[in-house]
Amino acid sequence: MDCLFCKIAAGEIPSKKVYEDDLCYAFYDIDPQAPTHFLVIPKAHIASVSEVTPENQSVVGHIFSVIAQITKKLGLESYRVVSNIGEQAGQSVFHLHFHVLSGRDMTWPPG
Ligand code: AMP
Ligand code: ZN
Repeated sequence: MDCLFCKIAAGEIPSKKVYEDDLCYAFYDIDPQAPTHFLVIPKAHIASVSEVTPENQSVVGHIFSVIAQITKKLGLESYRVVSNIGEQAGQSVFHLHFHVLSGRDMTWPPG
């Protein structure tokens, strides 16, 4: 499968690593939208939140515990976690990823 984030997780395309374990990989976004902006992805391909199932759901909880761990380590007290699902919501890479954004004031609702 020709998937950019599968290749990043496999180390076939370079990225700026934040964290890695057997199940997930975190790396800085190439086009940061905040002073700190990284992505956390499962190593196994899942297209988006809409493809999360009872069989693969455990990696999502794992990713959130990793986000809690990384943000503490980076000293981020306030941050936003975002996942875009589908083109209308702004998804451009169809491999599940959670954006973690921090370091500036955020507006609500998002644009
Ligand atoms: P989304 O638009 O929600 O699907 O998010 C995809 C994100 O991946 C965007 O914020 C892009 O800037 C980011 N991105 C695309 N290619 C790369 C890359 N090679 N390395 C790091 N981030 C990337
Ligand atoms: Zn993939």
